[in-house]
Amino acid sequence: MVLQKPKGTQDLLPGTVEKWQYLEQKARDVCRRFNYKEIRTPIFEHTELFQRGVGETTDIVEKEMYTFRDKGERSMSLRPEGTAGVVRAYVENKLYGEPEISKLFYIGPMFRYEQPQAGRYRQFHQFGIEAFGSVDSTLDAEVIALGYLFYKEIGLKDVRVEVNSVGTPEDRALYRSKLLEFLTPLKDKLCRDCQSRLERNPLRVLDCKVDQGHFEGAPSILDSLSEASSAHFEKVREALEAMGIPYSVNPRLVRGLDYYTHTAFEYKAEGIGAIDTVGGGGRYNGLVAQVGGHDQPGVGLGLGLERILLVMEAKGIEIPPSPQPDVYLIALGEQAEMKAAELLFQLRSRGLTAEKDYQSRKMKAQLKSADRLQARYAAILGEDELAAGNISLKNLADGQQETIPLDRLAEALAEKK
Ligand code: ATP
Ligand code: MG
Repeated sequence: MVLQKPKGTQDLLPGTVEKWQYLEQKARDVCRRFNYKEIRTPIFEHTELFQRGVGETTDIVEKEMYTFRDKGERSMSLRPEGTAGVVRAYVENKLYGEPEISKLFYIGPMFRYEQPQAGRYRQFHQFGIEAFGSVDSTLDAEVIALGYLFYKEIGLKDVRVEVNSVGTPEDRALYRSKLLEFLTPLKDKLCRDCQSRLERNPLRVLDCKVDQGHFEGAPSILDSLSEASSAHFEKVREALEAMGIPYSVNPRLVRGLDYYTHTAFEYKAEGIGAIDTVGGGGRYNGLVAQVGGHDQPGVGLGLGLERILLVMEAKGIEIPPSPQPDVYLIALGEQAEMKAAELLFQLRSRGLTAEKDYQSRKMKAQLKSADRLQARYAAILGEDELAAGNISLKNLADGQQETIPLDRLAEALAEKK
């Protein structure tokens, strides 16, 4: 039996991988403009990092982690998200960097043991950013703006931004008791997941897609915020407005990670069936200390790349075409083949994209390959040309053919670019 890839994973083949490169390149370019620097952390970490950094009562840690014992009997987990690892690296490498703040980004695979469906995989990829060292509201707004600009530049022009404030742990404790008062009488009507969430994480209940019908008149977290928390949120909104970023306030937005404080936000788009969230993030002022570092505030986001590609596909958004190969070398005869190998290396060394046949096929078959590859030129080297020190250059777009000295080939191709 032929072995198959694990459930919930994907092979990214040529033809598709270019789309990934395009997204990655755009992400890097946007980060450059906002002055975020790349960080690469391990794909597996001590399980404890995620327990502390993501939160014991989250779906991720409770149900979705790929956890295993290594040969040294240590409990390790494949990273289910990017923030915990970046926070650990920030602390471990003392990137406190005062008086400057640290602005970092990552792009890479994440792993969650979930039921695969469109837009939900077991290995998926995130582009994320984290900014440490400031409680300034304009930094929250900058993070939201970076994601917004990224979506916009890849053609997802109608991504919606939803923002909320989940306040401080104290604000949330107050809200939690008000919310429990509202939700407890409804318990029997809620879905199974929400019934068990009710005690452990009641804020998540309001986020439930199934139970939305029951939540009319639910208390809003925005009414439980302290004055300082409200002021922070107000300034985030002001900064978004100053930048001209459209958003709406969704007081039920809480996100599935425990570490958020104050600002929480999501990006929404249509085109992936039941799923509409393509990315999200928020502020996490207690997290760095929780992972064992100085008490430094942070704010960040994580965007799923698979979901972006699904939305692009649904909306018919194309990526810019890859450049065509410059030339396909057609060599006829053994001597010409050796010369072609030499020429090919010269052309490639000069930065041209060049290819040849490796199966000693007939001229006609080789010309077909040149067409299939969409090469701009075919360069034909037969025994006669070789003897005369020439090569024929055929423009594959208009069929024009000319003969040029062999040693002018690279130059001629470069001129014709
Ligand atoms: P969901 O509610 O859809 O499960 P989440 O709250 O678990 O999302 P986050 O942890 O906030 O998602 O991750 C940020 C982004 O990463 C998501 O908005 C999504 O684009 C992507 N993402 C999360 N889980 C998956 C997955 N299993 N497969 C593909 N993309 C994912
Ligand atoms: Mg999830």
